[in-house]
Amino acid sequence: MLVACAGRGEGASAFRRFARAPTLPRLRGGAETPIDGGLRPSGEASGAGDGEGDGEGEDEAEAEAELEPEEAEPESELEVASRREGEGEVAEGEDEVEVEEFDLVVIGGGSGGLACAQEAAKHGQTVAVCDFVSPSPSGTTWGLGGTCVNVGCIPKKLMHQAALLGGALADAGSYGWNVPPQPRVHSWASLVENVQMHVKALNFGYRAALLSADVEYVNARACFESAHVVRATDREGRVRRLCAKAFVLAVGGRPRYLDEIPGGRDLVLSSDDLFSLRSPPGKTLCIGGGYIALECAGFLAGLGMEAHVLVRSVPLRGFDRQMAEHVVTQMEGEHGVRFIRAARPTRIERVAAGGSDEGDERGGGADAAGARRLRVTWDIDGVEASDEFDTVLVAVGRDAQTVGLRLDLPGVALDARTGKVVADEAERTSAPHVYAIGDVLHGRPELTPVAIQAGKLLARRLCGVSDERMDYDGVPTTVFTPVEYACVGASEEEATRALGEEGVEVRHSFFRPLEWALPHRPDNACYLKVIFERGGRERALGVHLCGPSAGEVVQGFALALKAGCTARHFEQTVGIHPTCAEELVAASVTKRSGADPHKRGC
Ligand code: FAD
Repeated sequence: MLVACAGRGEGASAFRRFARAPTLPRLRGGAETPIDGGLRPSGEASGAGDGEGDGEGEDEAEAEAELEPEEAEPESELEVASRREGEGEVAEGEDEVEVEEFDLVVIGGGSGGLACAQEAAKHGQTVAVCDFVSPSPSGTTWGLGGTCVNVGCIPKKLMHQAALLGGALADAGSYGWNVPPQPRVHSWASLVENVQMHVKALNFGYRAALLSADVEYVNARACFESAHVVRATDREGRVRRLCAKAFVLAVGGRPRYLDEIPGGRDLVLSSDDLFSLRSPPGKTLCIGGGYIALECAGFLAGLGMEAHVLVRSVPLRGFDRQMAEHVVTQMEGEHGVRFIRAARPTRIERVAAGGSDEGDERGGGADAAGARRLRVTWDIDGVEASDEFDTVLVAVGRDAQTVGLRLDLPGVALDARTGKVVADEAERTSAPHVYAIGDVLHGRPELTPVAIQAGKLLARRLCGVSDERMDYDGVPTTVFTPVEYACVGASEEEATRALGEEGVEVRHSFFRPLEWALPHRPDNACYLKVIFERGGRERALGVHLCGPSAGEVVQGFALALKAGCTARHFEQTVGIHPTCAEELVAASVTKRSGADPHKRGC
């Protein structure tokens, strides 16, 4: 069971489980709000909208029908409240708000937070989840479920699929289908509407799941007001105070902006905005070399838009270099994405057809293309260049949402460079009753399944039903570029660094999926390599595949690597013909041999 609530008595006049506040604070002038008009248990109707655009108390149909993201409120009460929170100021009457007691309070209702909360509740704990989405600089906001569901994996993969279908349509004629003549027309608006419908349904499902798991959903922004009490302020400025024996930080991250250059925040969009953008982004510059920039550029190009990627240093940093360059070569050569390499953006400005300033409208979209263009200037080795775009999408990294949480009060240490939470192997921070999971955690992979797994295992440990810890090694991942790249384990550079060149054997192969033969897609556009330890048990250290459905293929190999498979296991495994997956077990050409890894024939 959880340890006793060490915060009893700290600034709290009384504790009640799931108690409602008897009075609510006044953040602006006016009478105190009586309880009947205030916070209600999740699932009950409330007159006020919630801060996430998913409408507390809406029924499913309403939730699904409301597709537009909420408008930003420039000077909302919450912003006033959060500014005051940041300054450590307590609103009038707040000290009279009763403190509600839980076993566990989770801050952040994303992949990790929801998994952790539900698992703890399943084991009999009283749990509250605070979740709140601050609008992006362009005013985009969304519902419960965090980044993955709303502005990450899910909408991204659906848009990737939309682009792949365009490729399939282009291939279909070779397979005898009478496809409509060129140009094929894609409706961005229909895609966005359908994607957002699906996201809304997921938001609804998450709320329902919390309700049935008996987890208290607090749609409010949380920050610590003392070591053991969290203050949650909703969109209307109403406050709840929650005490717990343990806290889990699962606040994730948000896109970083180019604040150091003119226009780098106010004229750009980020992935937070793209998936709900009402009009097609048009000619788009994606700034950044990470997977988000490349994926977005990839599906935009696949949907018929002109997509450029401006990379300051290396693309797909952290991934195997050869695989990353293969991805870029394919995107440039076969999918029409234009890369601007080794470039540093210096300014972004709005230009009209005549080059004058167009006012203060934000964001992108090609609806007003020409009238709302953005001129981006960049520098390559001291030489300036520029071009005009309909949309500029920044994807230059993500910052952990630790600012304003008052983590100094419980004494949670942050990494000085990344601003992320530092925790030990059991996800315990420097404050013994505070834990952290998911993207907010320093030095861990920023991936949904990692956050979910860590959250579940942490909950089980907190509940005393298991002592299993998260294994952060051997986590597979996929970059959903036009030709997908999936990998698990070490890159060639990592393996060589660890074992030296003589200690590593790389088997590799170029290939073309059979499905690409009839439409005459290029030979040898796909590439794989499997990295083994040389000598000893010849353990497999890394698997890398650039080809269709790479993620589907590599998932199984991730299991094999976890089980400690060796070169011999690869040799003994019979392929499934004709698939891309069989190429991984068939690969026999070693880099060391210098033999040609290109494929000819079946
Ligand atoms: P999140 O899911 O970000 O949830 C944190 C929640 O906490 C948010 O709702 C936030 O608003 C809320 N919050 C923050 N501060 C507070 C506060 N003070 N009070 C209350 N609530 C607060 N991962 C994959 O595995 N596969 C993919 O294909 C993939 N694609 C991605 C594509 C994009 C464009 C992006 C941006 C991410 C992608 N990811 C992908 C990463 C994945 O989305 C994250 O790793 C995952 O969502 C992290 O989960 P989390 O629980 O740590 O945080």
